[in-house]
Amino acid sequence: MSTLIDGRALAKSIREDLAKEVKEENLKPMLAVILCGDDEASKVYVNIKNKACKEVGIEFEQFNLSKDATEEELSELIEKLNKDKKVNGILLQYPVPKQIDIIKMAELIDKDKDVDGFNPCTPFGIMKMFEKYDIDLNGKKAVVIGRSNVVGKPMAECLLSKNATVTVCHSKTKDLVKELKEADIIIAACGRERIVKADMVKDGAIVIDVGTNRDKNGKLCGDVDFENVKEKASFITPNPGGVGPMTVAMLIENTVKAYKLQHNL
Ligand code: NAP
Repeated sequence: MSTLIDGRALAKSIREDLAKEVKEENLKPMLAVILCGDDEASKVYVNIKNKACKEVGIEFEQFNLSKDATEEELSELIEKLNKDKKVNGILLQYPVPKQIDIIKMAELIDKDKDVDGFNPCTPFGIMKMFEKYDIDLNGKKAVVIGRSNVVGKPMAECLLSKNATVTVCHSKTKDLVKELKEADIIIAACGRERIVKADMVKDGAIVIDVGTNRDKNGKLCGDVDFENVKEKASFITPNPGGVGPMTVAMLIENTVKAYKLQHNL
């Protein structure tokens, strides 16, 4: 039986600490979120971020661009927000429509305002979970499923920085199951419904589920077959209720950090 890594509770306590800091130190952070296109899931995520900002006392402004927006329009908006002294953090919600190169656009965001770039929120939230649950990564064999620029690659770097031995798997990996069976830590971030099964997981492994999927009944689920894998893992994140809330909490933390940096506090 495994220990549940309760991302929802951890994120709540992080938001409460940040709310206290914002109030007591009279900080006035502001986050600008750019939503480009009409992706329904993105609208939901942006609303969750808005609500979390309100709870902590961070001003939130949303900028909507249509699904046909051009890179010129988006870069003009980013430049405007870069120059606006009131704006401390800028987030370009992912995914963007296909005519837009997300890496090129994200690079335009002022480095001091890039709240998803200087500490990528999802890997940063997962590292915080390891810290809070006293999970030592030193010398452990970690397998990351997924090599995207927003999750897989920065996750691998974070794990390496704590001396884990890291293997990054992707859709062309020859024998994913073999890699998983040897892993002390599995980070599943490929967006494939319950792809990680109990018989692929070593007894006592630590399993972190990043994926966000909907099963055939429309129910939210992750990349891990949670009900069965939890019987073998030593630690496991539920999904929903694990990585997602921590990602948002880290966005808020980064926005407060950005405000303080910009005000030399
Ligand atoms: P992405 O850009 O689509 O990347 C998916 C990665 O998974 C790719 O590297 C892909 O390999 C790999 N992959 C796909 N199918 C695979 C398979 N069958 N076996 C092994 N690898 C496979 O996605 P992302 O932005 O990294 O996000 C990953 C998942 O996490 C999504 O479900 C997303 O919604 C979720 N997410 C959740 C949070 C959160 O806060 N909870 C935050 C961010 C993302 P190739 O490179 O070879 O194509």
